[in-house]
Amino acid sequence: MFESWDYDPDAVPVRSGHFIGGSIVDDRPAIEVRRPSDGVVYAAIPEAGEESVDRAVASARKAFHDSDWACIEPRRRARILRRWADLLERHADELAVLESLGSTRPVADARAWDVPFAAESLRFFAEYADKLGGDVAATRGDHLGFVASEPYGVVAAIAPWNLPLVMAAWKCGPALAAGNAVVLKPSELTPFSSLRFAELAIEAGMPPGILNVVNGSGARTGDSLVRHADIGKITFTGSTRSGAAVMTAAAATGLKPVTLELGGKCPQIVFADAPSIERAAAIVSRAILLNAGQVCVAGSRLLVQESIRDELVARIIAHCRMPVPGATWEKRAILPPIVSQRQAIRIDGIVNTSLAEGAEALLGGDWESAASHYRPTVLGGVTNATTAVREEIFGPVLTVQSFNDEEEAWALAAHGTYGLAAGIHTGDVSRALRAVRKLEAGTVWVNRYGRSEDFVIPTGGFKSSGIGKDLGRQAVEANLRHKSVLIDFS
Ligand code: NDP
Repeated sequence: MFESWDYDPDAVPVRSGHFIGGSIVDDRPAIEVRRPSDGVVYAAIPEAGEESVDRAVASARKAFHDSDWACIEPRRRARILRRWADLLERHADELAVLESLGSTRPVADARAWDVPFAAESLRFFAEYADKLGGDVAATRGDHLGFVASEPYGVVAAIAPWNLPLVMAAWKCGPALAAGNAVVLKPSELTPFSSLRFAELAIEAGMPPGILNVVNGSGARTGDSLVRHADIGKITFTGSTRSGAAVMTAAAATGLKPVTLELGGKCPQIVFADAPSIERAAAIVSRAILLNAGQVCVAGSRLLVQESIRDELVARIIAHCRMPVPGATWEKRAILPPIVSQRQAIRIDGIVNTSLAEGAEALLGGDWESAASHYRPTVLGGVTNATTAVREEIFGPVLTVQSFNDEEEAWALAAHGTYGLAAGIHTGDVSRALRAVRKLEAGTVWVNRYGRSEDFVIPTGGFKSSGIGKDLGRQAVEANLRHKSVLIDFS
């Protein structure tokens, strides 16, 4: 079927509601949901207030205690997670349509990348189900000491709009593999693929109530979920501002532990000795064009050695001219839309402020208000004080700064607020290793940029880019708490 699409967005049925106790639960529609590609309202979601959130948490708590999810043989839990991954792949066409319809993900990318990537990450987490039991401690001979790893109980998972399905898998996968029950709140902008994701978990054999989804706004539904007394742990991905609000609410309502994956302002540093300038240009461009820059690790700050600046920038601009704006239901390669008018206006505001501060538009910077796409924009003439260099934009806007030597490069790369990821292009392995030591970032990529299927490498930021990690063994460990036991058998 997939080979023959473009699809008709008006012909796609969308099921709304919450997902509680193993099935979709209707509720009064309260929030209109628009398609980013054309701004058309295509559905509405309910907004879970305290009562519906309480229902979802109670369902999770009951399932955690009654279904034995945490106590069944861990390999059985792993089998269910793997079956769930298989089902995601079996329903990949349907999920790709649902994902692309209401998000910024082009259907071809959702089908080729998001769905398989989400499925494979679930398989990765499943592999940890029986591998993080704890440790035996060295104690005196007539004592036995051990540290038992146990799930928290009910985990609140809050996901952003930019890669809804992948983010849902990264939040729910490790929590479930560790034996927790989960209440997931997707973004109000992209709520629907998560409901189908949860339905398929039931089909895979997950006990009803172990995974629930509540829809609604962050301010109401998200906040109620975070504050609920029966939440044992919170895992959140979103902006630094919302992450801080989540952490404050968690602290005020029981000191709940938090994993926070937050914003970034990531540098891509290209030295004159990069293995190939054209390859670096292609990588730098892709890192800012992917999902039209609406990715937390968007490589939004180019730092280039002065001697190759003009050549590299000319090649990057050529790459940035290539993608043609399109609707997410077109199968050809497109420049994706911006998620909402509000976000497009915000991007344009930052670009205009930066131009007024002295930046020069080397490409773009000429958004027509009301357009759902933002043309790739390259800004020269900037300093570390320029608004576009300081603030996370979450759009296809690349700033360009040049340096002469390493020390200058490291100084420009340092950001006062964020420390999510950084890229470096060099043919000198010692320089690359010096960069790894110098750069204050949760991830450093050398001669590449962006995530791979190496799920074992965790992702997460330093400084205001977050606390804790998604992916890797660390993500599963973060969903376990440790009980110390000492037995005297003398
Ligand atoms: P937001 O912070 O606006 O929202 C993220 C999620 O949190 C949404 O589900 C939102 O709900 C909810 N939310 C908002 N406020 C609260 C609150 N007070 N209490 C509980 N929940 C709340 O981020 P965006 O959705 O705009 O996502 C983009 C941001 O996410 C960027 O800053 C990006 O860098 C970051 N991000 C980080 C990643 C990482 O791995 N570090 C990965 C992907 C994105 P609703 O939308 O319904 O209001």
